[in-house]
Amino acid sequence: MDRKDLKNMTKEELTEELIAIGEKKFRAGQMYDWMHKKLAVSPMEMTNLSEAFRRKLCETYSYTTLEKAVMLTSKLDGTRKYLFSLADGNVIESVWMQYHHGNSVCISSQVGCRMGCTFCASTLGGLVRNLTAAEMLEQVYAIERDTGERVANVVVMGTGEPLDNYENLIRFIHMLCSEDGLNISQRNVTVSTCGLAPMLRRLADEKLAITPALSLHAPNDELRRKLMPVAKSYSINELMEAVDYYIEKTGRRMSFEYSLIQGENDTEALAGELCRLLKGRNCHVNLIPVNPVEEREYKRSQPANVLSFQKFLEKAGINVTIRREMGSDINAACGQLRRHFEEEHR
Ligand code: SAH
Repeated sequence: MDRKDLKNMTKEELTEELIAIGEKKFRAGQMYDWMHKKLAVSPMEMTNLSEAFRRKLCETYSYTTLEKAVMLTSKLDGTRKYLFSLADGNVIESVWMQYHHGNSVCISSQVGCRMGCTFCASTLGGLVRNLTAAEMLEQVYAIERDTGERVANVVVMGTGEPLDNYENLIRFIHMLCSEDGLNISQRNVTVSTCGLAPMLRRLADEKLAITPALSLHAPNDELRRKLMPVAKSYSINELMEAVDYYIEKTGRRMSFEYSLIQGENDTEALAGELCRLLKGRNCHVNLIPVNPVEEREYKRSQPANVLSFQKFLEKAGINVTIRREMGSDINAACGQLRRHFEEEHR
C-alpha cells in the first residue's frame, strides 16, 4: 500500500492522523509549522520532536520533496526556469520571476496535459498524471529555499489544466493561503483554465478570492475549435455564461488570455469580434505573442500588429495589456524544457 504523504495533509487531517497513532494532538501544529512555514526537507529536521518519533515518521509516511534537475537563469532579468524531479521519476517545470510588486512563481498542475491546444508544447505527450497538492506546494517551497526569497504571487499557468485536477487544486489553494502555511493572499493566486465551463462554475461556488483567467485565444467557435479541441465540448456562449456566473458569485474580475498567432487570430476583424464579445464585462485582456513551438508551424504576430490589436481593444474601452516577456533568453515555450529533458534521457 502507498504510504500517506505527510505534506499532503491539512492541519486538521494531520491532527486526526496523529491521534490515530496515539500521539499528542499538539504535535500536529509543530509538524505543520516545520513543513509549511519552515519548509523542512525531511522529518529529521523537526528537532522539537524526539529522534525516535522522527525516525518513525520517516519509516511510516512519505514526505514529498522535489529535486532540482535543471535550472536556467536569464541574464536579462534573473528569471529562473526550474525542472524538478518527482519521486516517481517524472519531471515538471516551474518558473520564478521577479517583479516590482514581488516575486511570482508559475507552477505546473499536472505531468503533461490532455487538452490538446495546438500551439502548446505541454500537451504533445498527453497527460501522464495529476500532481498532488503537496507536489504543487513543493514547487513554491523548493523555489523559496533555492532563491532564499519570499514568493508573493503564484500563478497556476505551467503545464497542465488545473480544473482537470480539481480536488488537488482546491486543497493546494487552501494550504498555500493558510495562516499556518506561507499565508499567501488568495488575491495573489491566479488559476488559468482552457475553459472547462462546468468546472469554472464549480470553482465559482468555492467563493475563493483568487484571480481566474480564461484562455480564450479566439472570439468565435469556428476559430477556437481549430486552435483548442476543448472548444468542441463547450461553446463560447456556454463559456461566457460560466464567466458571468463566476463574476456574479465572487465579485472578481475575469482575465482573458489571448495568444497572438500571426495570420491566425490577430486580424482587425477578429479584434472587432473580441470587443463585441467582451463589452460590458468586468474583465481584463492579456495579449501574449505566441511562443513558437518546434513541432508546430505557428509564428508570433509582428510587434506592430500586437500593438494595433491592443489599440483596437483599448478604443472599445476594454482593459488590455501586453504580457511583458520575462527571461526571453531562456524562453523555451511552456513545456519545452521538460520535452527536451525527456528526449535526452530516453
Ligand atoms: N491549462 C491552462 C493553464 C496552462 S497554459 C490554460 O489553458 O489556461 C497557460 C497559458 O499559456 C494559457 O493561456 C495557454 O493557452 C498559453 N500558452 C500555451 N502555449 C503557449 C505558447 N506556445 N505561446 C503562448 N501562450 C501559450
